[in-house]
Amino acid sequence: MEQKRHLTGFGREEMEEFIKDLGEPRFRSKQIIKGLRGHRLREFGEMTDLPLALREKLAECATASSLTVRSRYVSIDGTRRYLMETAAGHPVETVYIPTANRDTICFSSQSGCPLKCEFCLTAKLGLLSNLTAGEIVEQIIIVLNDVYGERNEAPHGTNLVAMGAGEPFLNFENLLKAVDILAEEDGLFIVPRRITVSTAGIVPKIREFSALEARPNLAISISAPTDELRDVLMPINKRWNLAELMSAAGEFQSTLRRGETFTFEYVLLSGVNDSPALARKLAGLLKRHGLLKAKVNLIPHNPADPLPYEPSSKETVADFKAILEAEGIPAFVRTPRGRDIFAACGQLAARTGSAEADV
Ligand code: SAH
Repeated sequence: MEQKRHLTGFGREEMEEFIKDLGEPRFRSKQIIKGLRGHRLREFGEMTDLPLALREKLAECATASSLTVRSRYVSIDGTRRYLMETAAGHPVETVYIPTANRDTICFSSQSGCPLKCEFCLTAKLGLLSNLTAGEIVEQIIIVLNDVYGERNEAPHGTNLVAMGAGEPFLNFENLLKAVDILAEEDGLFIVPRRITVSTAGIVPKIREFSALEARPNLAISISAPTDELRDVLMPINKRWNLAELMSAAGEFQSTLRRGETFTFEYVLLSGVNDSPALARKLAGLLKRHGLLKAKVNLIPHNPADPLPYEPSSKETVADFKAILEAEGIPAFVRTPRGRDIFAACGQLAARTGSAEADV
């Protein structure tokens, strides 16, 4: 049997083409997009504004759901982790992070990850697959439906971060296709300004990304201010070193408008990369490259077996932050969320069996 087409990830033109091939009038394409991404329906049978015959025809050759939720874990802080599976059986994890006036959904761009960052649990999985645009978009649909119910609007805007499993810039095309689909006014209507993409430093893609007209915000995971240390912690540095990374960051910065910023993320590992001397080196590096629109997000390491690191102490984190600030670099400490359910940064590795599972 031919594989069913996953329409959730079809762009507007692709959908029109598909509808034409079915011998249906063009306006059906708009209705289907509204149903899939405006109402967030995952079964054609629920699209009651379509004739029954069309719903049946669609169900035969296409699908509106390719991800299956295997478990859902709820943290004591309200964070939720969804462990899903692609049609091919690969794990996909998505995290819902509620805060007072806004929701953030952290989605995955790949199943597993090919990069070998020493402090990240996802690295242990290796790369299982690139996610399709449909699989990326469907993660958001599944989370919003779980929290608010299908057809209901989220009461406040949704922010998205591509900070789940995987390296988004190694799945560039699908990521950008998903970004376009997410922005549809009659669909999910999550515009690029509300999305942040985080990269471990795929330099040519940072440059390509910079040249895009409507693009999400950028975060670059740096985690070490010297090549010597970064080569060890993030082996991708051996492919593109700090000088190349800083130069690409400069190119991105030059496309920002007045008042816009971008981010460097720095995971703090006790006794490894958290000394005052390295804080000063980091500040020096950013200043030397003129990266004056950058801010630094400090992420206390989220420990997990078998990672060999410990989080820095509160005092060390505060000192590191103070040094950056004294050098004129805005620095923020990211509060860990959902550590108890393996939902925090660097903890996504398809772990099962938490006591909080409640699906
Ligand atoms: N591959 C991309 C997207 C992943 S984002 C990237 O590297 O940017 C995940 C963020 O969590 C990255 O900034 C990464 O440095 C950070 N991270 C990874 N492992 C972590 C850990 N154990 N504790 C805290 N942060 C971690």
